[in-house]
Amino acid sequence: MGLVAGFASHRGLVRQTNEDSFLVRKGLYVVCDGMGGARGGEVASQMACERLAALSPDSAGKDELHDAIADANDSIAARSVAEPHLLGMGTTLTSALIHDETVILGHVGDSRAYLLRGESLRQLTDDHSWVGEMVRRGELTPAEAAIHPHRSVITRALGTEGETAPDLLEIDLEQGDRLLLCSDGLSGMVSDEKIEEVLRRPDGPQAAADALVQAALGGGGEDNVTVVVVDFVTDDDQPGGVSDDIADDDAVTVGPADRGEERTSSVPGFMRPALGMGARLGRRPPLWARQTPAAASTAVGGGKPAHWSRRRWIVTAAVVVLVLALAVAAFAVFNSNVYYVGTADGMVALYQGLPATLLGIHLSSVVELGTVSYDSLAAYQRERVDAHDLIGKEDGQAFLRGLAALQ
Ligand code: MG
Repeated sequence: MGLVAGFASHRGLVRQTNEDSFLVRKGLYVVCDGMGGARGGEVASQMACERLAALSPDSAGKDELHDAIADANDSIAARSVAEPHLLGMGTTLTSALIHDETVILGHVGDSRAYLLRGESLRQLTDDHSWVGEMVRRGELTPAEAAIHPHRSVITRALGTEGETAPDLLEIDLEQGDRLLLCSDGLSGMVSDEKIEEVLRRPDGPQAAADALVQAALGGGGEDNVTVVVVDFVTDDDQPGGVSDDIADDDAVTVGPADRGEERTSSVPGFMRPALGMGARLGRRPPLWARQTPAAASTAVGGGKPAHWSRRRWIVTAAVVVLVLALAVAAFAVFNSNVYYVGTADGMVALYQGLPATLLGIHLSSVVELGTVSYDSLAAYQRERVDAHDLIGKEDGQAFLRGLAALQ
């Protein structure tokens, strides 16, 4: 049985960078969706792909796949701690290791593997996400999960915990099967029905991969989107597949090419993504070059969606206004509950408020004018009046009465 693969990755219409990574090698296919600020996401997703690239598709089994995923987890976690700007980085990983008509899937996070067999599409992986778990417990429907505000919260990732527990499953393949690996930039933007419709078209895997990415962009392109499509065919002559371009079965392709900078790999013989995609595909321009002007002009604002930045500004402004309003209200309450003794029109008087002005506004006003003139006071009494000590209302009234009684 032959394998023909197609792949595509795009940063989408909102994100400035592409933190997804993929690996395509005959018999070994990986999609990773990285997370973490300051480019940590792309570092984590690429580290995971690089670690799995060391597997030999012909001889590796479940144990080797498990160990490679565990190693990737350890390496990402160690680097996250060692390099402060990468702290907290992590990645999903969905991988397919294929030989002898069997696929072994390794899976952590909310990227997905689907199998199109005959007419029907089946999701092979469980989403390790908050909404995914709610759906499995019957507390959310898939339709509710698809639009839930917390749908991007994942419950398992590589690099974020000391140990990882990848799902490993083995499936026997049949001729004509089509396998899809994708990041949530596809499944979050495109319905399963639409994905199935695209995969059922009689196009080669590369055309299918391109069409799926276009569907994700058409659906809003709010996230990085990466897809790998693998067909199980009787020979390798199916047009439009990557294997036409890859004469050497050991060749490794990693992407995406639209990260915006070149990277080097720690794996000997591992291709740099920007050069790898262009050199490998030859007749096709790299994906970043095919980005539409509309996509380029809307890709602004850090690693976050532009609308997210705008919303953050609005929320921040609202919080500032609210805090100021609360502060003014609290001050008004405080100011109406303090009193002091001073003079008004030459008479000793009781004031409500603070003995001060703010921006030209007096913060206090006379609430009771006494019957004793300031000039008639003894020195020690004047001292008491001039001190403007803050007192309670009743104490102030008692003071005025006391002065009158001493006259
Ligand atoms: Mg994503």
